[in-house]
Amino acid sequence: MAKVIDSKIPAGPVPEKWKEYKAHQRLVNPKNKLKLDIIVVGTGLAGASAAASLGEMGFNVINLCIQDSPRRAHSIAAQGGINAAKCYQNDGDSVYRLFYDTVKGGDYRAREANVYRLAEVSNNIIDQCVAQGVPFAREYGGMLANRSFGGAQVSRTFYAKGQTGQQLLLGAYSSLSAQVQAKKVKLYTRYEMEDVVIVDGRARGIIAKNLVTGKLERFSANAVVIATGGYGNTYFLSTNAMGCNCTAAVQCYRKGAMFANPSYVQIHPTCIPVHGDKQSKLTLMSESLRNDGRIWVPKKIEDAKALQQGTKQGWEIPEEDRDYYLERRYPAFGNLVPRDVASRAAKERCDKGFGVNNTGLAVFLDFSESINRLGLDVIMQRYGNLFEMYEEITDVFPGDVANEINGVKYYKPMMIYPAIHYTMGGIWVDYELQTSIPGLFAIGECNFSDHGANRLGASALMQGLADGYFVLPYTIQNYLADQAVWPKVSTDLKEFDEAEKAVDKELDRLLNIKGKRSVDSIHKELGHIMWEYVGMARTAEGLKTGLKKMHDLEKEFDTNLFVPGTKEGLNVELDKAIHLRDFFTMGQLVAFDALSRNESCGGHFREEYQTEEGEAKRDDEHYFYVGCWEYQGKGNEPTLVKEPLEYEAIKVQTRNYKN
Ligand SMILES: Cc1cc2nc3c(=O)[nH]c(=O)nc-3n(C[C@H](O)[C@H](O)[C@H](O)COP(=O)(O)OP(=O)(O)OC[C@H]3O[C@@H](n4cnc5c(N)ncnc54)[C@H](O)[C@@H]3O)c2cc1C
Repeated sequence: MAKVIDSKIPAGPVPEKWKEYKAHQRLVNPKNKLKLDIIVVGTGLAGASAAASLGEMGFNVINLCIQDSPRRAHSIAAQGGINAAKCYQNDGDSVYRLFYDTVKGGDYRAREANVYRLAEVSNNIIDQCVAQGVPFAREYGGMLANRSFGGAQVSRTFYAKGQTGQQLLLGAYSSLSAQVQAKKVKLYTRYEMEDVVIVDGRARGIIAKNLVTGKLERFSANAVVIATGGYGNTYFLSTNAMGCNCTAAVQCYRKGAMFANPSYVQIHPTCIPVHGDKQSKLTLMSESLRNDGRIWVPKKIEDAKALQQGTKQGWEIPEEDRDYYLERRYPAFGNLVPRDVASRAAKERCDKGFGVNNTGLAVFLDFSESINRLGLDVIMQRYGNLFEMYEEITDVFPGDVANEINGVKYYKPMMIYPAIHYTMGGIWVDYELQTSIPGLFAIGECNFSDHGANRLGASALMQGLADGYFVLPYTIQNYLADQAVWPKVSTDLKEFDEAEKAVDKELDRLLNIKGKRSVDSIHKELGHIMWEYVGMARTAEGLKTGLKKMHDLEKEFDTNLFVPGTKEGLNVELDKAIHLRDFFTMGQLVAFDALSRNESCGGHFREEYQTEEGEAKRDDEHYFYVGCWEYQGKGNEPTLVKEPLEYEAIKVQTRNYKN
């Protein structure tokens, strides 16, 4: 190994590491907190919770986001819930079990110690949010309710109907607002970070664009935290909000921060299928629906053909002719297998011709059994807004009776298909959530820390809030403890000058290409390449083709892009062009990583490496590491650095959801 990475994981048995860490970490002298400024970029669940906590602890926080309000961060879209090991159901859950499920769910590619810490603080998150007034669903007796998510045999997901992200974000936002009011947090909305400024090897500030005036502004601080979300929109069509981008993360990567496991991209099994080429967004139907919905395709190919031609409807197919393929293949977990497993199984059925809509790329998610068992009222209480959202988009209400066969009522099923949803890869961070640039931290979806090769449902909100409320506010102090003696640097330094000039030059370059193609048309083409060659099923051959196509398309971007308007004032097209420039870097990084990993694990599926039953085949002997990439300049292959994984509490084995 060319380089050894210090992940700062304390020695000792896994459950003790975090306690050990806390016992020995350095804290900032309370008097000095007032002298320390921290920039937090992002106001999603990770950013808002971190900014609020750091402000409350006494630091001066500068908090930025691209939306007009923190409440509009992409986190608001989260539907299904948030995990915690409270064991309110008395079903045998525990911190250890959540830890185990998460490591197993990540296909044994996550850092053990980080995941343990995550499981341990999961319970505090629920208490914190309840204290903030988050209206989690409750049982009749007043106890917080739980439901199940994939990859778990216990019920540990706390939820607020299908709007959990929104409610959690409102909670974090109220804490943030209190700190804004107390003047501990200065909030900058409609500001986009364009670059990180490095002074003497440490992150000392950022260059941000005021998205309304178009002006570039400089911010200096003692540390910078990025909480800017994932890179799912590299694929153009995804369940992510349209504004999600990876510009801040990619710019940190260009400046020397390592990027870890980029090929680990999550494809969610239950999204509304693509229905044309004019679409710019895909809609998620929460995984929580798999608690009560059953996934199926017809057993007979002639039924599938009839469904595709529109001469038959799903509800006309009797029970005995339905293939509940997840229940058949994975009896122990059934419809609640992890997302990567469920997505591949749907693709396998559709590839074999059993798809149920006109494109052949859809399977059914059917609530007939649960509505017959529990009644429509109960199902609506659990998923009402999701049913309504589905109806608004497709004009089909999944609670409508459509047929009766042998006295059994059949309701109109949803149609779903896998889509890009979440990115497990991200900026590499050590145990303290510090990147490979001292003073630069990354939290939430934009880091790689806890999910390995596949994220279990309801674990992203858990990780984002764990990072923001309970981990970063402590670990960052270890870095800041001796920084109080170093005053904040002036924004007149040449490093700020150079960074600002470079950003300005890039804006001019993009505006002056004056070609013929819109940002969206090129982005859409990039998305097709990503989905086709770097998507659900990858091969070495396909990845090389994908890389070549991306390279050619990037040239087209550099020579034939058209961005209207000027850099003064609001220019949404210019902002999108910057994002697309960075999606190109990201797309190639995903492909390089996927090409280097000659195995299948979690969301990274290489067709050459699968079992006879079509399951992912890992190669622990050669790939039991975090793949960290160092930028080597535009168009050049980045350098791979490996962080070996070490497991001491959990036995690394083949994932099994069958029994
Ligand atoms: C439809 C959907 C449903 C989901 N449901 C669930 C669920 O039920 N449970 C679960 O656990 N997870 C769920 N997830 C995943 C989860 O919502 C996200 O992983 C999580 O919210 C990410 O939070 P974050 O704070 O890291 O980033 P985000 O919420 O994406 O926030 C990013 C922030 O960074 C800011 N930003 C970005 N770039 C810049 C820049 N250059 N300069 C300044 N600011 C910038 C944005 O303005 C925003 O404030 C879901 C995801 C989707 C898409």
